[in-house]
Amino acid sequence: MLTHTLGYPRMGSNRELKRKLESYWRGEAGADDLALTARKLREEHWENQKQAGVDLLPVGDFSYYDHMLDNAVRFGVIPARYNAEGAKASLDDYFRMARGEAGENGVAAMEMTKWFDTNYHYIVPEFSKDQDFFLADETLLGQVEEASQLGHRVKAVLPGPLTFLLLGKCSDQEFDRLDLLEKLLPAYAKLIEKLSAKCEWIQFDEPVLALDLEESTRKLFNPVYRTLKEVVSDTKILVAAYFGGLGSNLETAASLPVDGLHVDLVRGAQDLEPLLANISDNLSLSLGVVDGRNIWRADLERAVAAVKSAHVILGKERVLVAPSCSLLHVPFDLDLETKLDPDIKSWMAFARQKCAEIRIIADAVEGKDVEAVLAENRRVLESRKISPRVHNPEVALRLAALQPEDYRRNSVYEKRAEIQRDLGLPALPTTTIGSFPQTPEVRSTRSGFKNGRIERAEYERFMREYIEDCIRHQEDVGLDVLVHGEPERNDMVEYFGENFDGYCFTSNGWVQSYGSRCVKPPVIFGDVSRPAPITVEWINYARSLSDREVKGMLTGPVTILCWSFVRDDQPRSETCRQIALAVRDEVADLEKSGVKVIQIDEPALREGLPLRKGEQPEYLRWAEECFRLSASCVEDSTQIHTHMCYCEFDEIIDSIAALDADVISIEASRSRMELLGSFKRFSYPNEVGPGVYDIHSPAIPAADDMAQLLEKALEVIPAERLWVNPDCGLKTRKWDEVVPALKNMVQAAEIVRRKI
Ligand code: GLN
Ligand code: ZN
Repeated sequence: MLTHTLGYPRMGSNRELKRKLESYWRGEAGADDLALTARKLREEHWENQKQAGVDLLPVGDFSYYDHMLDNAVRFGVIPARYNAEGAKASLDDYFRMARGEAGENGVAAMEMTKWFDTNYHYIVPEFSKDQDFFLADETLLGQVEEASQLGHRVKAVLPGPLTFLLLGKCSDQEFDRLDLLEKLLPAYAKLIEKLSAKCEWIQFDEPVLALDLEESTRKLFNPVYRTLKEVVSDTKILVAAYFGGLGSNLETAASLPVDGLHVDLVRGAQDLEPLLANISDNLSLSLGVVDGRNIWRADLERAVAAVKSAHVILGKERVLVAPSCSLLHVPFDLDLETKLDPDIKSWMAFARQKCAEIRIIADAVEGKDVEAVLAENRRVLESRKISPRVHNPEVALRLAALQPEDYRRNSVYEKRAEIQRDLGLPALPTTTIGSFPQTPEVRSTRSGFKNGRIERAEYERFMREYIEDCIRHQEDVGLDVLVHGEPERNDMVEYFGENFDGYCFTSNGWVQSYGSRCVKPPVIFGDVSRPAPITVEWINYARSLSDREVKGMLTGPVTILCWSFVRDDQPRSETCRQIALAVRDEVADLEKSGVKVIQIDEPALREGLPLRKGEQPEYLRWAEECFRLSASCVEDSTQIHTHMCYCEFDEIIDSIAALDADVISIEASRSRMELLGSFKRFSYPNEVGPGVYDIHSPAIPAADDMAQLLEKALEVIPAERLWVNPDCGLKTRKWDEVVPALKNMVQAAEIVRRKI
């Protein structure tokens, strides 16, 4: 029985690839140097996997930036603005596509978007209606050669043609991208013809099989893969589905005319039985039984049982064991974590450890003596299950005691708005989203305090000074509702995680987000609660410096959930409710201390939406509830704000309304207020602050321009319910951009106020 992985993390144990890429971009490292680092990393990663007991090693999962971009370049899908000949992309063309280029002959980067429901972002391929395809880049062949020379058993990996087209976009006029299949397939065929002499397996990633597909799209899978299969002789073809169950695509997948089908049995456990009943004889089944999306140790016995049931029916030749998806979405190696609590650490597995898990599962099914390892696994899982660090009876009691009224404000919005007039705000009140520029000094003071280089007193003195500066700047530019500037936060989720019980932090648990950018999500291992107030002192210090209102600034429960590694031993909704209670405690303490305006950011609300339409209403229901649970403990007179960054609002506008925040600020300037359309179509009832200042750009927007945007907004939102604010937080901007921009923004509000 073969073991394999679908892909491995790329960055290296110490993010070597990140460092080398950035040094190349700065013009310090040369292309050869970069290529050498990349080659070493590939070698090391193959070796790691092999040593852990992986039989078939993935080749082609490595990338300088992104695997979808690699595929575009491979098949000559290069928009003319990057390479007029539209031929082969040089390394620098490749990076210009990924990152754009500043300066006179500058060009914008290609669009980037989230890879399914992960935090990984891919470059969206752009197809023109008359798109031609050809085998433009043979890097994959070179890497296959590399791995073969090292004596590895090779499985080439690349995006499948359907996923590639479906996840792309049309560059000019709209057309059905699937019409391009006919022209794309010969290019794929050419590649696999060349590959077939050199590798045992070729894996085509078709994660779109985890989405709701149209019947007409489903029907394409069979002929497409029949065509590709015809090209190869001995090489086997594997189609990989992951990130969810197969749902209505199950029959299509089970009858693919190839050699293997990979399925995600972590999220789609229910698929195993029907697959075993329906799978066609030509197909082997690769069982994704180890979670490639989370950092917990697998329940080996459960996995063994699943694999056994397939083994009995299909025989050992037709079963492969694998993680559920590419290991790109988990950190590299748990052994590098030296500071984690040993108990909690014993419950975890990162990429390397997951490879060892699949080996044990395969060995157990084949009857090898791995009883000692299985026993240890049982013991560890049991210790986690009963650990007092995981279970806090007080949290359970509080959750059980919740009443319907805990989820709603005392009065409806109209009544609250009446009462909140006492805040004395002008029409079109001006405010910001929370953070102000995070200067190098802010960052170094914070990290210095964290690693003990800077004393608490010194740290606090610095932060107070920053807050004071921040308040003075806001008073000078004339904002109505002020913020303290968030200098004490390095990340809006990590900061709260650090102050909650039930959270822990890795020192090296990096996961690629896009390009060279990595994130280190905090880990929720146990029941979440808030032992002591977190933000109250900072906010009240800020309030003591001004007569104007200062907003208390919190991160919402759904966002905290979405941007953490979460427990797999209880539903996400349960964990979210616990976080909501912790946030609620903070909200209550802020109110008690006199804070009148409290913002609870939920930029990740849309992100958490399940991939399948059928599962979305359930998610939205508990997500709304959790937000309201966190916000509803306050009096009518306390004004609750929330904030969301850019997203497709249409799909979730009802839920946004159901949050029942008094005010929501959203990103809107780049779409020139167009997305306010959703708010109009669905008659959004409460107050809205559509961003008028694009904080992603260093440009300083003119007052007139922002005034124009406000007038556009007034066509949709009545003046009594319109706020004036930037698109998002200002932490990535510089003070000398922020101050004049906000001055202009306040002036824009004044211009429009005179007209209403
Ligand atoms: N309050 C946060 C800030 O201003 C919000 C950030 C976000 O929406 N992503 O930085
Ligand atoms: Zn934002």
